[in-house]
Amino acid sequence: MSIIVQKFGGTSVADSEKILAAARKAIRAQKDGHQVVMVVSAMGKNTDALVKLAREITDEPPAREMDMLLSTGEQVSVALMAMAINSLGHEAISLTGAQIGIMTDSTHTKARIRSISTDRMREALDGGKIVIAAGFQGIDEGFNITTLGRGGSDTTAVALAAVLGADSCEIHTDVDGIYTTDPRLVPEARRVARISYDEMLELASVGAGVMHGRSIEFAKKFSVPVHVRSSLGDNPGTMIAAEPEALDKAVCGAAMVKNEARVTVLGVPDRPGAALTVFSRIAAKNIAMDMIVQNVGADGRADISFTVVRDDLPTTLKAVEEATRELGAEGFNHDDDVAKISVVGSGMATQTGVAETMFRALAEKGINILMITTSQIKISVLVERKRAIEALRTVHEVFQLESEPSSLAGRRERQTTTPQPAAAANVVARMQGMEDLMIDDISLDASDARITLAGVPDRPGLAAQIFEEIAAGGIVVDMIVQSVGWEGKANVSFTVPRKDLAKSMEIATELTQRFGCPAPGCSSEVAKLSVSGIGMRSHTGVASRMFHSLAQVGINVDIISTSEVRVNVVVDGRQGEKALAVLRDEFADVTV
Ligand code: ADP
Ligand code: ASP
Ligand code: MG
Repeated sequence: MSIIVQKFGGTSVADSEKILAAARKAIRAQKDGHQVVMVVSAMGKNTDALVKLAREITDEPPAREMDMLLSTGEQVSVALMAMAINSLGHEAISLTGAQIGIMTDSTHTKARIRSISTDRMREALDGGKIVIAAGFQGIDEGFNITTLGRGGSDTTAVALAAVLGADSCEIHTDVDGIYTTDPRLVPEARRVARISYDEMLELASVGAGVMHGRSIEFAKKFSVPVHVRSSLGDNPGTMIAAEPEALDKAVCGAAMVKNEARVTVLGVPDRPGAALTVFSRIAAKNIAMDMIVQNVGADGRADISFTVVRDDLPTTLKAVEEATRELGAEGFNHDDDVAKISVVGSGMATQTGVAETMFRALAEKGINILMITTSQIKISVLVERKRAIEALRTVHEVFQLESEPSSLAGRRERQTTTPQPAAAANVVARMQGMEDLMIDDISLDASDARITLAGVPDRPGLAAQIFEEIAAGGIVVDMIVQSVGWEGKANVSFTVPRKDLAKSMEIATELTQRFGCPAPGCSSEVAKLSVSGIGMRSHTGVASRMFHSLAQVGINVDIISTSEVRVNVVVDGRQGEKALAVLRDEFADVTV
């Protein structure tokens, strides 16, 4: 018999009426011939209220006790949901994470699922019951209650769908699908009919709070089609599956992280392993660094800039202080008044001009870009927080995200990915934990050259000007990084095909003359190494492991760019093959 998992978020179970409405949906699915597992979140803003209560007692509640507290929210709603189904004349059983057997590691408040037992759920389902599982929680080896991180019920739902080999995982929420950006911030946002796992992973990681990013890691790893829809009506919603909605649009969505903080470590000795000292200290605290930009100055010292979510800033600064001392770096500074705006789209990998278009649109509004990072399917910029929403609207508009892609009709007919229990079982069999890091490709591209403009006067329109002029020369830029340097000066590095180096340098030299800054630097032979897989950023140690293994053989990293699905590093071109071998070796145990 087919199994369907239905998850209801907080707003969708906020009061007794909504609980009864959700119960009716589950009963209807059962009547349609499915076995039904419901995953339920805490009612309304209950989790927030519990967090607030804890903060009233102490600023630093022990993480274990936080999990004990927060897990009660879901316990309330599963019990009420079971009562609701009962009252409607059907059988149901509520189960906590521990009762199901959702085993996690012991990283309280951010625990990862290791394994899930299906016995008890199957027994109840076979007995005709609707199973109501508490979202967001699990239990560790020592029987301590753990939680998966805010928004984690999505992850519970997709993980249960994966282990049960469910036919579908429905995410019922307060919007009727995935939009091109948060419709609460940009009313013109459009609901998309479908979105690929990679796009959704990137969007979730750059601020689209509609889905817990780790749920999409599960979905991709176990090929679970996820159907996001409104808990109220029966609108078609959005399918999250392997294929994107359309390939003719370079950008499929935009998102914002309003509360970012930027940290720059200045004057780091430019030697193998230096950046590693910074990264590993931060990774050790389970903090995910986001936009990472390393720019090497002429004096042989590098500035390393990166962003973290603002809540993680105090812990990050402590780690940075230690690293600065250890490295003999010149110092560090930070800015906690910044926001990150990103655009995402599979089409970006094959279409040119996306970056310039974005930079120009922001320049025309007079919005200054403080940092830039790009990866194959994502461009992120850091802007002043007070301009953030305007910046989001601006990029949404310039990429015409409100209008339907023209190739949509054809693609809609494509089959969605169906779950492949056998493939999933294979993967699980090889992994110790279901959420373990999984690498699927490590590759080398030695066809590029790097150009660096240092000490450029920072002002709105800078990036637009540089990349428009390069593009006007018919040159296709691959990676772009921009960071804040000394005294309001920016450093910009980018890679171009090696055959275009001379021409790019001509344009760059002309630009620097006009800017009145030092002549551009370049490296004619660079090698880009890409490590791609699932969990690249949520496993905070991936970038550190790359730096560490490369540093051990004396290879320095010039540029790094990270995304949910890929970490790219640029190294000296002569070291490419060696670096490739080192990375393949480093990740051999987790490569499929
Ligand atoms: P739930 O409680 O059901 O898990 P969430 O509040 O976590 O719901 O997620 C739904 C919210 O996500 C929406 O109300 C919407 O404001 C926000 N959101 C952010 N980005 C997007 C997006 N790209 N598409 C749809 N909703 C989005
Ligand atoms: N109740 C938890 C939260 O608010 C988990 C969830 O809703 O997904 O974060
Ligand atoms: Mg949610």
